[in-house]
Amino acid sequence: MLVEVLRIGQRLVRDDRTTTHAALVARAFGASRILMDDVAPDIRETISAVNGTWGGSFEVEIIEGWRRVLAQKRRDGFAVAHLTMYGEPVEEIQGRIASEERVLAVVGAGKVPRGVYDSADYNVAVGSQPHSEVAALAVFLDRIQGGAQFRAGFAGARSRIIPSGTGKRVVGGPGRPT
Ligand code: SAM
Repeated sequence: MLVEVLRIGQRLVRDDRTTTHAALVARAFGASRILMDDVAPDIRETISAVNGTWGGSFEVEIIEGWRRVLAQKRRDGFAVAHLTMYGEPVEEIQGRIASEERVLAVVGAGKVPRGVYDSADYNVAVGSQPHSEVAALAVFLDRIQGGAQFRAGFAGARSRIIPSGTGKRVVGGPGRPT
């Protein structure tokens, strides 16, 4: 399954930490890229540094005009899953979405225009309470991939974690391949 994330909308107060966390979750939970508008460009350097250390080729694409991007992704064969507290419970529709070959998960930064709800193939609620695009993305991406994203490798990593019940075990590091 090819998964991409589109984050739309402007925050009244730009919140770079939430922007970074949305990108980190998209990356670590199996998406191949995140498309965002109205973000500080240094998010790309932040994620590039994470790729450099922990591997993979996750991309941050800064866009203008989410409507045009959404229409293009649909033409490219993506099923559009808009995450919203007003949607259908994720547990009821995750199976159908998991059968899609390409999924574009759409989250809002601030107020989400009505057009997103109308143009989505799925409007998906991760619980019917307001929380955050970071939490919604994490749960949704895990549910539609069944945890497979955590077994995927991140090629070219300079550092790699050895899971441990106590402490931190990391192999590699700057200049030492893993
Ligand atoms: N107030 C905005 C609105 O009503 O459009 C939403 C702001 S919310 C902090 C940011 C994003 O988090 C939402 O656009 C949605 O993508 C996601 N989100 C928040 N709660 C959610 C929930 N219960 N289920 C799915 N997505 C949720």
